[in-house]
Amino acid sequence: AAKRAGGGCYALFEPHMGSDASEQLELQNDLRQAIDRGELALHYQPKIDGTRGQISGVEALLRWNHPKHGMVSPMVFIALAERFGLINKLGNWVIDEACRQTAEWARNGMRMRVAINLSVHQLRESGLADRIGHALQFHGLDASQLLCEITESVAMEDIKATQRTFDGLARIGVFLSIDDFGTGYSSLNYLRQLPAQQLKIDRSFVNDLESSEDARAVVSAVVSLAHALGLRVVAEGVETEGQRDILLAMECDELQGFYFARPMPADSLFAWSQGEKPEGAVDFTPSVIGS
Ligand code: C2E
Ligand code: MG
Ligand code: MG
Ligand code: MG
Repeated sequence: AAKRAGGGCYALFEPHMGSDASEQLELQNDLRQAIDRGELALHYQPKIDGTRGQISGVEALLRWNHPKHGMVSPMVFIALAERFGLINKLGNWVIDEACRQTAEWARNGMRMRVAINLSVHQLRESGLADRIGHALQFHGLDASQLLCEITESVAMEDIKATQRTFDGLARIGVFLSIDDFGTGYSSLNYLRQLPAQQLKIDRSFVNDLESSEDARAVVSAVVSLAHALGLRVVAEGVETEGQRDILLAMECDELQGFYFARPMPADSLFAWSQGEKPEGAVDFTPSVIGS
């Protein structure tokens, strides 16, 4: 199986897999055991600060190294985990592992804000803020070192749960981000009330920046809207220098995408902070990594 350190390359395992019943049952069992067998890992993709050109934080992205199928995309197994009722187990593992890694980096001199992605099920879990609070405490972290990303469509799907969870997380000092913005249907009045600090523009808009005037108009408007609401804007899925230049001209605060770096194992990110550039990363020196 073709395995690369980063995202985008999941050989042998396509989204249609797991569609027939016996395959599903097998996968369900595999997934149940994946945590205990140590097959799960977090890879980390940097967010680059637009004005300072430094790494401002990283996003933790879940990977499953299946013994038979190789790297399985989270697009596949997150959906399976949700269907099988395993998403909380998976989500809890992510919370703990991200905190553990953040603390380890900090001990080694790399202070970094780490973002994790939350699913709709976690959002509905009433004890989520407590659980995250305990993980932070256990690993000796400051709450501001953790950021939670919630997809816009998920946030709007269950407005009550979102509000409650966001309030709970904000109360303990965790940073919050609205992910994949532009693909859901946000009530702006509602968006205004969420205690978030960050908004991430969906990669579909970023992808069209160079070819579509409409995409440029939308992104520019979203940047203005976010700034008016006091949110920092991250553009996800930046793949070209041209996209980067347009986004910087629009005063987008942070950029993330394959152009800068693919998601990578924790060790590679740390090595980068020591001057060892990961394969496929853009040629820049993250002089002060994290802040
Ligand atoms: P997301 O949170 O929007 O994460 C961004 C996705 O875009 C990642 O895919 C990343 O590898 C990919 N990406 C980053 N830069 C580029 C680029 O320049 N071009 C392209 N084409 N893609 C880029 P990935 O890792 O496959 O994750 C997919 C989705 O799975 C994530 O979307 C997120 O919604 C979900 N996910 C990942 N990890 C977790 C997790 O721990 N928990 C939950 N609940 N969901 C997760
Ligand atoms: Mg995300
Ligand atoms: Mg996203
Ligand atoms: Mg996305």
